Amino acid sequence: MITFYPGPSKVYPEVQHYVNETFDSGVISANHRSEAFMKMLEETISGLKSKLNVPADYEVYFVSSATECWEIIAQSLISEGSLHIYNGAFGEKWMEYTQKLTGSARSLPFELNEESEIGKVTSSANEVICLTHNETSNGTVISDQVLNALRARTDNIIAIDATSSMAGVVLPWESCDVWYGSVQKCFGLPAGMGVMIVSPKAVARAIEIGENAHYNSLLFIRDNFIKFQTPYTPNTLGIYLLGKVMQQVASIREVSDETKKRAAEWYSFLADNGYQALVQNEAVRSDTVIAVRETRERIAELKKAAKQAGIVLGNGYGKEKETSFRIANFPAITQDEIDILKQFLVSMTSQ
Ligand SMILES: *Cc1c(COP(=O)(O)O)cnc(C)c1O
Repeated sequence: MITFYPGPSKVYPEVQHYVNETFDSGVISANHRSEAFMKMLEETISGLKSKLNVPADYEVYFVSSATECWEIIAQSLISEGSLHIYNGAFGEKWMEYTQKLTGSARSLPFELNEESEIGKVTSSANEVICLTHNETSNGTVISDQVLNALRARTDNIIAIDATSSMAGVVLPWESCDVWYGSVQKCFGLPAGMGVMIVSPKAVARAIEIGENAHYNSLLFIRDNFIKFQTPYTPNTLGIYLLGKVMQQVASIREVSDETKKRAAEWYSFLADNGYQALVQNEAVRSDTVIAVRETRERIAELKKAAKQAGIVLGNGYGKEKETSFRIANFPAITQDEIDILKQFLVSMTSQ
């Protein structure tokens, strides 16, 4: 099967080999306070920072999932409320969980085809602003210009969910303080690990708040990671595989150019062949998750035929669950696979 599911998604085929290698290296059974583990963790972090072009003074932590970051941020960085600006299901869920934990989450929902409001928000000084860089549920993105404009007008801590864009496109790191993602999307790895990338300003804020009541308090995670250790027994295999994939992939600039080129080709292919992108405003269309609008009947037909052709399409998600399907445009997917899906979609237009 060829999968275009936007997470869990296609894993790089090389990973099979790396799994075997972990056994040979012995690190898979190593204690997580051992030299061998610490060295491996250090190499993985430096490989990730270098390939993704993360600013030197931002820190990288590995946690269990992107979802866990909702909790870590709520516990350790939100002391005087949070402002959640979102247009889809992931941003909304983040707000809901934060509200349960802090009781002080404000919502600013916006429409699918809008983008301008984010740059204009006002927020009290210590409110954490929470954004979703790439809303996987509906295939929208927040542009670099909007993020940079927001950064220019506020000193607030800005936290951003980049789960389905991190490692797929160049991210404007300096515009936000906490970025997080998950290895099962653009990283092309098996599910089961989150990546949290934190600015010096966010670290300073966490220290100022001093929250230390949880096994996954940000400061506790940090104390361990700066020694290349982890607070809990980590996903050693996941960290090893991430390190290997970071060695394998091109620099993010190159990966991003390819992702954007393929995305542009996807959107023009859809328009040329009578398919309608869910997002009409081109400025907010995602490069990594392509959402297509269809009727419920047509989606059932397409998915059934795709399955017979050995292709897995992504279901709709959230509000557009019944009225869209999604196509992952993640780096591990090959051009040949994309061509097969395009041929399939062309063949379906005559039926
Ligand atoms: C997939 C996804 C998540 C959840 O990631 P997990 O690692 O499964 O917790 C959160 N936010 C967005 C935008 C996602 O695409």
